[in-house]
Amino acid sequence: MLKKNDMAVVTISDMGVDGEGIGKVDGYTLFVKDAVIGDVVNVKVMKAKKQYGYARLMEIVEASPYRVKPVCPVARQCGGCQIQSLAYEKQLEFKSNKVRGNLIRIGGFEEDQIDRIMEPIAGMKEPYHYRNKAQYPIGKDKEGNLTAGFYAGRTHQIISNLDCALGMPVNRQILEKVLSYMEENHISAYDETTGKGLVRHVLIRCGFTTDEIMVCIVINGNNLPRGEKLAESLAEIPGMKSITYNINQENTNVIMGKEVRLLWGQEYITDYIGNVKYQISPLSFFQVNPVQTNVLYGQALEYAGLTGNETVWDVYCGIGTISLFLAQKAGKVYGVEIVPQAIEDAKKNAQINGIQNAEFFVGKAEDVLPDYYAQYAKEHPGETAHADVIVVDPPRKGCEESVLETMVNMGPERIVYVSCDSATLARDLKYLCGKGYELEKVRAVDMFPMTGHVETVVLLSQQKPDDVIEVDLDLDELDITSAESKATYQEIKDYVLKEFGLKVSTLYISQIKRKCGIEVGEHYNFSQKENQRVPQCPKEKEDAIRAALEHFAMI
Ligand code: SAH
Repeated sequence: MLKKNDMAVVTISDMGVDGEGIGKVDGYTLFVKDAVIGDVVNVKVMKAKKQYGYARLMEIVEASPYRVKPVCPVARQCGGCQIQSLAYEKQLEFKSNKVRGNLIRIGGFEEDQIDRIMEPIAGMKEPYHYRNKAQYPIGKDKEGNLTAGFYAGRTHQIISNLDCALGMPVNRQILEKVLSYMEENHISAYDETTGKGLVRHVLIRCGFTTDEIMVCIVINGNNLPRGEKLAESLAEIPGMKSITYNINQENTNVIMGKEVRLLWGQEYITDYIGNVKYQISPLSFFQVNPVQTNVLYGQALEYAGLTGNETVWDVYCGIGTISLFLAQKAGKVYGVEIVPQAIEDAKKNAQINGIQNAEFFVGKAEDVLPDYYAQYAKEHPGETAHADVIVVDPPRKGCEESVLETMVNMGPERIVYVSCDSATLARDLKYLCGKGYELEKVRAVDMFPMTGHVETVVLLSQQKPDDVIEVDLDLDELDITSAESKATYQEIKDYVLKEFGLKVSTLYISQIKRKCGIEVGEHYNFSQKENQRVPQCPKEKEDAIRAALEHFAMI
């Protein structure tokens, strides 16, 4: 085992969720930021745990054949792009393999099945400058000059970078104009440590199909002195449509405040996903990679297989991007979303597109869907609520089991699952496939090139009762599964951390083991002190622990 400050030479053989390199030294796993698959690197151990450690890349001993020179000169310091040094083709291969691996390991699907149904990952032709939104902090660099860029590590110092490789080329021109307006008018930058200074951030958004541009200056104050000067200068940029400022006087990391005031033009810009039009204001949510959003949601639409009369649910619908896409080909679409503001946007977007067959509900999916189902049964005795197609696009933690259960009860012919985390996707697919659905298609889509993230869209179909289910029993295999298999608490913790990014305690693991009927030692279940309330494992962690127990074939 390695200790803190040890040096080691390691071959990088894998990549973690955040794009960090992973390699082994005598069976001990090291996570190495900035190292790419195929590199042989010299590292220094910064943090050593029992099963794994984190190490800093000191020197590349032998560069991977897949290593490329990052386009951005400050890629390593910035950390916004974790895998710019990996050839794009290899990034796609890595992401595709990640999805495949999770479906097999966590979802329990057969390799053969996945290889047969998985479509090639949808990558980008131009994997740079894909973001339609940028938020630059304004501050001072090392020399004390006013600039825009990103914070250096955990400090308040700004590393100047006006040309983010993922951002729009026009960003530089806008930032230069803001900075010279600030210099000329003696306007200060906000300083997080003292809470003094005026200009905090510059938000820039661009409509990729309309070429409309928006600039919003986030300030720690009530007004922007000589704001008309800035507006005059920015308005010269072709495509400029909206110049506003936003008031944020809180001592917080949250970038935007609540109030937006107009300086010039209008308060929003317009853009399209497919043929649906959206009005985007400084505070509204909008997918940041519109090109790939179109690909991802286009695929979801194709999988939904609509003919014009279907009843469709879009659960976790956000501003209704998928709902409105589907509404054009469906009978009726119901959207469910927890954020009220997003639903207001969804309704407004339906209206400006003349879409009348979409209805939206504000609330938690795990409340709205089961309540709707129960209410329907009450109002229509002897009947149950039915959907023809259900689309879900949940956050990273996936769907609550009550959502999955209600979905199954609504008996849709097809379920389309859009996911930003293939580990929780695999877990949920396992549930759905245990309840009469069959995994038919899988496609990964690269929405965030140069980062470790990958989106996936899958199609599930209801198995018809007359479908013949082939059962192939292998006695050897049966023996293995029934044999007692055990993982240590540490192994379970490591697995949960690696796959779900969650830290779980021994107490929680023992609670879930007990729930699953696995023997656990007495002392794990009770608090040392009498009458003390024992914390109960939250649902999200429970799901992750269950996935680990399944992974280690303990349940
Ligand atoms: N398809 C959407 C984006 C989905 S992202 C779009 O294009 O706009 C996931 C969404 O789920 C987010 O909008 C988030 O606010 C919402 N969400 C998170 N937890 C939820 C819950 N428990 N119930 C309903 N919606 C939830």
